[in-house]
Amino acid sequence: MLASRLYSPTLREIPAEAVVISHKYMLKAGMIRKIVGGIYVYLPLAWRTLQKIEAIIREEINKTGAQEIQMPIIQPAEIWQQTGRWAVYGDEMFRLQDRHGRQYCLAPTHEEMITTLVHMDTSSYKQLPVSLYQIQNKYRDELRPRFGLMRGREFIMKDGYTFDKDWEGLDRQYKLMYDAYTRIFTRCGLHFRPVLADSGAIGGSTTHEFEALADSGEADVAYCPHCDFAANTEAVVPNTLPCAVRSDKEKELVATPGQHTIEMVCDYLHAPVSQSVKAVVYKLDDKVVLAMVRGDHEVNEVRLQNIYGASIIAMASDEDLARCGLTAGYISPIGLHRTDDFDIVVDASVMEMQDACCGGNQKDMHYIHVNPARDFGDVRVETIRMINADDVCPKCGAPIEIKKGIEVGQVFKLGTKYSEALGCTYLDQNGKSQPMVMGCYGIGVSRTMAAAIEQSHDDDGIIWPVAIAPYEAVIVPANNKDETVMAAARSLYDAFEEKSDEVVLDDRNERAGIKFKDADLIGYPVRVTIGKKWQESGNVEIRIRRTGETIEVPLDACKEKVMEILADLHARNQ
Ligand code: ATP
Ligand code: MG
Repeated sequence: MLASRLYSPTLREIPAEAVVISHKYMLKAGMIRKIVGGIYVYLPLAWRTLQKIEAIIREEINKTGAQEIQMPIIQPAEIWQQTGRWAVYGDEMFRLQDRHGRQYCLAPTHEEMITTLVHMDTSSYKQLPVSLYQIQNKYRDELRPRFGLMRGREFIMKDGYTFDKDWEGLDRQYKLMYDAYTRIFTRCGLHFRPVLADSGAIGGSTTHEFEALADSGEADVAYCPHCDFAANTEAVVPNTLPCAVRSDKEKELVATPGQHTIEMVCDYLHAPVSQSVKAVVYKLDDKVVLAMVRGDHEVNEVRLQNIYGASIIAMASDEDLARCGLTAGYISPIGLHRTDDFDIVVDASVMEMQDACCGGNQKDMHYIHVNPARDFGDVRVETIRMINADDVCPKCGAPIEIKKGIEVGQVFKLGTKYSEALGCTYLDQNGKSQPMVMGCYGIGVSRTMAAAIEQSHDDDGIIWPVAIAPYEAVIVPANNKDETVMAAARSLYDAFEEKSDEVVLDDRNERAGIKFKDADLIGYPVRVTIGKKWQESGNVEIRIRRTGETIEVPLDACKEKVMEILADLHARNQ
């Protein structure tokens, strides 16, 4: 490829909305162009990287015995209504109507469609297992599309689905996919961890997320440096914490005028935040739920949703509070009663506390000297707090570490949730009808490209792992005006016959400094410079982007050396 022909319109001014590095560099290097929020054009450099990621995915997923298909993106509402997800997906789903008024969506995922498909054509145990996948655009009207390709509204996903006779079969498929995902992300050069996750709205049992560790990630990953424990913090049930304070003082109502946040109250009462109990009020489907955690803890909303089996979780509205007789800023369970549409759930660590402060259930009043186990009355007790950096590993007790992760993939044991809802059954050996046991497996292809940049860059630009670099090498003639330099650069470029599709010749009429800057920004793993040195000594300079290491070799040995360096980078997944 000649750099003068490359369609990569570079941006000098990066829009302020680009806050993460992958977004900035992809815009700057002319890899992507925004059309509207969360919807982008992939320009040639990005498209080449995406195709390389897809090729790795295809190779590894085909090895598991799965076959590639392509399903419709436009899907009828009916199949989504049958599983109940037409309602659950809410505003995140792009919906449309045809000319007859029939409703459709742009698929955010394909469980409904694949289950409908397999149901049509598979009826006997002899046809199982079935393992199918596709790579295509998905559509989610995300509340906050942001971070460029990391959270788009149109994005590329690889999604795979397996159908088995029984759970043992599913366990085998799951293991195959888990191992394939591990190989895929390793080959893409990512630093990642598979972590236990919550199965959330999609339903099912066991699930792992593949998290690329990076500060810009939106997930929190808790992992133990001493044992093999690793989980999304949403999926962790932390230990119940003891309370060092012992007290048999009776609870007392005190005035706290205007002190309506936990920090204000604790300040006012000279109490440590960890000796306070805070109230958060949710609406879980139709139920209002008062959740109580220690002042220095946060509620694990995913766990709360699971405990109540709710499809939708939201903060309670002012009307909800008024209806339940709750005074915002001053709420506690004391004197309240659970009903069919109002529940009180208290974190287990709160029940260990003594001499705590909490809301007084009237404006400008708080209770002090509260012993929740004694004073809270009839409440539901569950572990509903998030684990945090002060906690220990729930498995082995060693101090836990928490890091940010970018979810690049996820594998689920779905079980029979979708096959039952959509009647996807088979006849077993005894002629008895059974629901198929399903698994589903997703990879964010476009997000994986962004994650690779988040993990691997410097102040000058992208440092691609060689396997997914748009091009593997660039040849930079330092001075275009010098015909001998240009001729040498062309002859080297021509020498890369079999690798020619991986090499760029920067033939642009630009200063050497600009070419070097662009080479670093685009992140070619290897750069060859033909300039003054070559004229003086016959040597060209090879520079490795990742290490900054430079090597001088005679022009006629250059190709072989470059091939050796690239092979070495490939072998080390760097
Ligand atoms: P998230 O929690 O980040 O919203 P998700 O768990 O809803 O993602 P899945 O349904 O598991 O996503 O989709 C499979 C994969 O698709 C994810 O692991 C992620 O890599 C990718 N993905 C999901 N949503 C987006 C998005 N808005 N933009 C880009 N990639 C996405
Ligand atoms: Mg997911």
